[in-house]
Amino acid sequence: MLAVTLTFFATSLQAQHIAVQAGWLFDSEKGRLLEKRTVHIVDGKVESVERGFNQREGERVIDLRAFSVLPGLMDMHTHLAYEFGPRTYTEAFTWNPADYTLRSVNTAERTLKAGFTTVRDLGDSGNVTVSLRNAINRGDIVGPRIYTAGKSIATTGGHADPTNGHRHDLMGSPGPAEGVVNGVASARQAVRQRYKDGADLIKITATGGVLSVAKSGQNPQFMQDEVEAVVETAKDYGFTVAVHAHGKEGMQRAIRAGVDSIEHGTYMDDETMGMMVDHGTWYVPTLLAGDWVTQKAAVDGFFPEMVRTKAAKIGPLIQQTFHRAHKKGVKIAFGTDTGVSRHGDNAKEFALMVQGGMSPADAIRSATWNAAQLLQVQDELGSIAPGKWADMVAVIGNPLEDITALERVRFVMKGGEVYKQPE
Ligand SMILES: [Zn+2]
Repeated sequence: MLAVTLTFFATSLQAQHIAVQAGWLFDSEKGRLLEKRTVHIVDGKVESVERGFNQREGERVIDLRAFSVLPGLMDMHTHLAYEFGPRTYTEAFTWNPADYTLRSVNTAERTLKAGFTTVRDLGDSGNVTVSLRNAINRGDIVGPRIYTAGKSIATTGGHADPTNGHRHDLMGSPGPAEGVVNGVASARQAVRQRYKDGADLIKITATGGVLSVAKSGQNPQFMQDEVEAVVETAKDYGFTVAVHAHGKEGMQRAIRAGVDSIEHGTYMDDETMGMMVDHGTWYVPTLLAGDWVTQKAAVDGFFPEMVRTKAAKIGPLIQQTFHRAHKKGVKIAFGTDTGVSRHGDNAKEFALMVQGGMSPADAIRSATWNAAQLLQVQDELGSIAPGKWADMVAVIGNPLEDITALERVRFVMKGGEVYKQPE
């Protein structure tokens, strides 16, 4: 009996040793490609990175000598529970949480296989992404590492009020549990509810938005004391705060309150950019969403008329804002708002960033090194370095010469586990 037990332990405790031989390896700290490196992995974590191609005794070799290997990509703005289409506005009336959940199982797998080993999910319903995260962490299903805000917090009638645009008798008056707040006390309650729900961070909608059925896409929707109450309460629970904002006034209130990131940031002017630099606030541009809504606004009947007007106006502006913010030295982390556009297309954001004046190396750093800092997990993720999780992807060719190579990820590893292999 004892022998059996010992054998069992010997097998289960046997470490997994892997050597990944990389033709080129992206150093996300410095933003450069290093030639011929071997990454030694033990039990899902990087043990060392060595020059040349080598193999130690007992190691399984993964031959990526013909590939460029990069840290796993990180998207700081996704909505895994949603995928926008012509039926989106009726889903609120016809879909149950199980429907959103089953869709998110599919979107999570597509995201991982596109090379995104980590995402920050910024808004769901029914806490679907909390359960999704847990199922992935248990190994029941396949998907990226998820850091989720759960339900976004809005004010009454604001962007992310879940009953916006509903018929009056169906509208009701959702409260903090549903993510709708008015005043300091309910703002605190909503943050505490997210803690109880199992969220990892907080998302608020500080201004109007494009896709909600409401008139303004940019008006301020949180008072100064409300956004301050959110930030102060969030700090008690170790939460960072991500802020949806298009208009300048809502952005400035949020930056003054000490939030961690501004999403979209469409009407960010020089003064606001200066405030972001001073406060160290991150900017998550979501150029792909701007591009996507601009295209769809040109299609008759795709959006309700109220949404179409906003999409046509706000969509094209984000690219220019990005260009100016980057030149001004605002800290930028990669984020796509995928769920607006199609899951798995996340990497298309890179080309838009490069078109907006960012170097390919900095665009990749925004999705690795910078993203890990925004998530405050720089000790675990964001580069291929000793002690960090072995999250890596591989592409053919040199992504610093052709950034669209990242749209064709051929190999995906997360925590030392291979999820996609070159055919
Ligand atoms: Zn979003």
